[in-house]
Amino acid sequence: MNFLPLIESKREGKTLAPERIQEFIREFTAGKIPDYQMAAMLMAIYFRGLNTAETTALTRAMCDSGDVLKFPKDKRPLADKHSTGGIGDKVSLPLAPLLACLGFRVPMMSGRGLGITGGTLDKLDSIPGFKTLLPAAQIIAQVQKVGCVICGQTDKMVPADRKIYALRDASGTVPSIPLITASILSKKLAESLDALILDVKFGCAAFMQTRADARKLAKAMVALGNQCGINTRAILTDMNTPLGHAAGNWLEVKESVECLDGTGPADLLELVLDSAAHLLVQTRKSKSHAAARQLAKNCLSSGRPRQKWDEMLVAQGADLPAFNKRLSLDSTAALVLELKSPRAGFVSKCDAKIIGETIRDLGGGRFTKDSAINFDVGVARIAKPGERVEKNSTLARIHAANHGQAEAAIVRLKSAFEVSARPGKKFPLISEIIAAK
Ligand code: URA
Repeated sequence: MNFLPLIESKREGKTLAPERIQEFIREFTAGKIPDYQMAAMLMAIYFRGLNTAETTALTRAMCDSGDVLKFPKDKRPLADKHSTGGIGDKVSLPLAPLLACLGFRVPMMSGRGLGITGGTLDKLDSIPGFKTLLPAAQIIAQVQKVGCVICGQTDKMVPADRKIYALRDASGTVPSIPLITASILSKKLAESLDALILDVKFGCAAFMQTRADARKLAKAMVALGNQCGINTRAILTDMNTPLGHAAGNWLEVKESVECLDGTGPADLLELVLDSAAHLLVQTRKSKSHAAARQLAKNCLSSGRPRQKWDEMLVAQGADLPAFNKRLSLDSTAALVLELKSPRAGFVSKCDAKIIGETIRDLGGGRFTKDSAINFDVGVARIAKPGERVEKNSTLARIHAANHGQAEAAIVRLKSAFEVSARPGKKFPLISEIIAAK
């Protein structure tokens, strides 16, 4: 194919025909279009955008570039949740077994963290023996039997996204609404979903810094998801402050189990129950959001999702006794140091971006996509905005690999917190729901 005229058309702001988009994605996946030309096209799209028909064509073409999961007919709907990423965002972990107990099938294909935002697969890698790379046949069999799986995409799924995402990362074209929409939804289409809830985060530690940008992205994804046959909704959630009281791979797994045990933090519980409630309404398993939330709450309190979590772990190869032993430890890191409050008052700032950067610098995140991760480091017992603290009470507990890194983290974390005489204004965690028109 002669790709150059298409790059030039998009550069001039013209509309590309769906067949041409399908063709160039097919050719690029087959290695017949060089990276430099695709990078030029991505930059043209970044500046000129894509209309709805173009974005739909791109999403479908990317999904069709590889295998699609084919599930047997079953009355249990196929559902998933996708978050645009944040600090301490561990919602997927308790949500998958909860949804399985509520009568869904959950083929949750997750990703790894890059930069400061955490990735579900990295968190799960901290569980002894747990496998996140599974062949398609095993994913399907586990979803049918257990009800849920949390794993990575197989090599054969959506290869076009893998190649394009790497180019976007290297060419400054990641923050483009049509490209993000196509990237996320092509992967969800490959899961053959009936319903999807999107958690689109905004704030200092989110991809989308402002609520207005998050709303634009959410609206684009909701419109396209529904157009492609997936009942899709989005919630806009605050990512100026971390979710829960713990951030860092193993620390987040531990907090997720606390959530399943009924002793987790309130904000995490709220997002887990709310996400489940939306999916119950979207699939008509509940008539109202209030009824759905109560159903999800009762199900969580029954303890069944906690057992389902163990069942999922065993199905994916985890060493349960070793996992339970790790859970019983106060810390798995070499060293724990506490950041103390300089005065009595109320926490008025707890900056998720600084906390995320601190964890990455402790070795808990990646500078490049190939960096090794230390699963045990992180920040726990994070004091959240509005919390009353005394002089010298704990603002955060740093789990570090050595003293030098712990000391550096203390210095950095001091700027993440502010303690004031009065509690600051409290912002709602979930500020908006974007549903199909
Ligand atoms: N997550 C994805 O999978 N793709 C994007 O483009 C952005 C976030």
